[in-house]
Amino acid sequence: MLFMEFSRCCERLEAISGRLDMIDIISKELPGLTDDELPVFVRFVMGRIFSDWSSRKLGIGPNLLYDAVGSVAGVPKEQVVEKINRTGDVGQAVEELLAVKSQMTFFHEDLDLVHVYSSLIGIAEQEGKKSQREKLLAVRRLLGNAHPLEGRYLARIMLEELRIGVGESSVREAIAKAFGVDSALVEHAMQALNDMGEVAKLAKRGPDALSDVHITPFHPVRMMLAQQGSIADMIKEHGEIAAEYKYDGSRFQFHKKGNWARLYSRRLEDVTAALPDVIQQLMSATEHDVILDGEVIAIKDGKPMPFQSVLRRFRRRHDIAEAQEAIEMVPNVFDILYLDGETLIDLPFAGRRKKLEGVVTMYLAPQLVSSEQAAIEKIYDAALAAGHEGIMIKVPSSPYTPGQRGKNWIKIKPEVDTLDLAVIGAEWGEGKRAHVFGSFLVACQDQGKLVPLSRVATGFSEEQLAEVYEMLKDTVIAKSGKEVTFEPLLVFEVGYAELQVSPTYEAGFALRFPRFIRLRDDKDITDIETIEGIRTRYGRQANSAQTYQN
Ligand code: AMP
Repeated sequence: MLFMEFSRCCERLEAISGRLDMIDIISKELPGLTDDELPVFVRFVMGRIFSDWSSRKLGIGPNLLYDAVGSVAGVPKEQVVEKINRTGDVGQAVEELLAVKSQMTFFHEDLDLVHVYSSLIGIAEQEGKKSQREKLLAVRRLLGNAHPLEGRYLARIMLEELRIGVGESSVREAIAKAFGVDSALVEHAMQALNDMGEVAKLAKRGPDALSDVHITPFHPVRMMLAQQGSIADMIKEHGEIAAEYKYDGSRFQFHKKGNWARLYSRRLEDVTAALPDVIQQLMSATEHDVILDGEVIAIKDGKPMPFQSVLRRFRRRHDIAEAQEAIEMVPNVFDILYLDGETLIDLPFAGRRKKLEGVVTMYLAPQLVSSEQAAIEKIYDAALAAGHEGIMIKVPSSPYTPGQRGKNWIKIKPEVDTLDLAVIGAEWGEGKRAHVFGSFLVACQDQGKLVPLSRVATGFSEEQLAEVYEMLKDTVIAKSGKEVTFEPLLVFEVGYAELQVSPTYEAGFALRFPRFIRLRDDKDITDIETIEGIRTRYGRQANSAQTYQN
């Protein structure tokens, strides 16, 4: 497939908004693709380059891209930035700039979809001192051969921000439709393989190939997530339930095969280098080949330390030995997904737990299985008394469903009025804060779309503002006066006193007294609060206000 054909397909997708129409367009493209093209098309159309399990990064920041665009279009970089700010869209700006250029040049080498992919892999593999220059040359070469329309999508793919509205669920349905397989089967394969490109190839071979999927060590799968709920409802629905402490630390997935082990964060980044102590602890806890799921906490004087100190260790790049001595990290293992070649995610939780107890000798999270409300409440009280966040209730008969926030894991913790929200913009600070961002625009999500909800300007220490500035400064995609817009990557936990109905922000709600609580850079943008969640909270708040007034 030519990259031009792919670009035309993106153009058609971008012009429509109906999900069914999108599924239809994509499903018609898939059967004609070769085995090499299929995975690339599937990832690209979702705006991704690598498999989801891969922690590989392309390493092309906006600055490098703007440099390359400038030199290909024969204009200064400032002009590129100015155009992006004006159009508010990198893709459109590149398209316009290349359009001017292509009126002057006559020669284009046709870009091929798979060739573009291999060039991007080549770019990602560049490391070391000269890598920035090599990357720049490679991006220039690609853009130099791109027609304006191709430039539009190439630029957006390079920033991993395609913005044509195609989400994973549409691609899943399109694969099912194209190859006549059940979409639940496609979803299940995705849960085990964590790469929709690979899943599409299996779907092409048929339902048998698609059902026979196995987890591969060192290809992390997404973490299973939890919903809010109540002990009483869970007992009513399931009878016996399993209760564990809810540790307030950082999620990990530990992969071990023979003497080789890696540790992945909740966002599936490889954090092995930062946490040699945890690796060593888990290595010593089992002789088997395993994939374990757990939460690591930091302990000082026998008490869990604030979650922030754990996160800091996960992010650490230097002086790791020093950091190790300062606080003790303790892993708590609560699930097993793979054991000696066998994929366990479809096994009921009770069965997985039995296997886990059979092969892991230390760091197991204690568990109580009971149908007695009083017994479970006792565990909840003990959890809080020991400084943990609350408890997790799990359904013993449930499979492990990677990436899903289902009803089989329920979190019980004291009601706190905080929301996890995406940071989508900011305003420069004033006075002594003039060199950093001072107030932030945060958003919730509505079916994958980001919806502004509030501004947050209080609750930050000077240190936190500096830290946040460092994390955000290279993700600015547009500027206007004192305002900047970010590529949405970072999550804040935001506290508030009350939810109010308000037309000020698109979400239709506003937060009263919003304040920054903490950075949640262990969380992905897809994990932020949904508009339905906010409506539910608002409903609860209104109910309790009524009770109070009565
Ligand atoms: P939340 O981040 O509030 O949605 O809560 C879910 C998170 O709690 C998980 O992603 C884990 O990081 C964490 N957690 C702590 N203890 C447990 C446990 N025993 N089982 C599952 N998750 C846990």
